[in-house]
Amino acid sequence: MDKKSELERMAEEVASCRKCSLYKTATNSVPGNGSSEAEVVFIGEAPGYWEDQKGIPFCGPAGKLLDELLATIGLSRDKVFVANMIKHRPPENRDPMPDEMEACKDYLDRQLRIIKPKTIVTLGRFSMAKFLPYGKISNDHGRGRKIEYNGESYLFIPMFHPAAALRAENVAQKLREDFKKIPEEIKRFEKPIIQVVDEPVKPKEEQLTLV
Ligand code: URA
Repeated sequence: MDKKSELERMAEEVASCRKCSLYKTATNSVPGNGSSEAEVVFIGEAPGYWEDQKGIPFCGPAGKLLDELLATIGLSRDKVFVANMIKHRPPENRDPMPDEMEACKDYLDRQLRIIKPKTIVTLGRFSMAKFLPYGKISNDHGRGRKIEYNGESYLFIPMFHPAAALRAENVAQKLREDFKKIPEEIKRFEKPIIQVVDEPVKPKEEQLTLV
């Protein structure tokens, strides 16, 4: 089965998921969308009001900002894949509970295994914690690092959540700067590592005669 069909099949599974109780209050499931061939996957937290209404991730005000930020680096939603940690909206947009995150975890893990992106960009501290449990978004945002996750290696770049940027201009400023760094970080990590090896030191004559 090709990647696109695999993702579609998983989306059907998500639509009838009963692994936690969030489906009871949700209107639609929000499995994620974008290109199955994406090299960059963006991961948010959970669907909000508009996402729940339409079944599409980041389609409300935070999504509009995400689209604008993608455009600043020549990307668009059809070139990347956008998903959330949680596939059904928590009531009143409350924070997802640990048992809901655990129940939903396998879907995102499978999406990553199917798409095999080179780069994962997390949006907000919830998704950052999946890959960097002891990270602090105020310190770690915008800096790429190589990670191993489920046996695959990725370039991982944590970022602030666009919704947080809509609430505070200083966060918006940092998010805009971090987005601009994405292409640089990708290039930086794609460069082959060149090992500089010093010329071997010639043993001294007299030392040789001792042998
Ligand atoms: N916030 C998220 O984390 N995800 C969405 O899809 C929308 C808002």
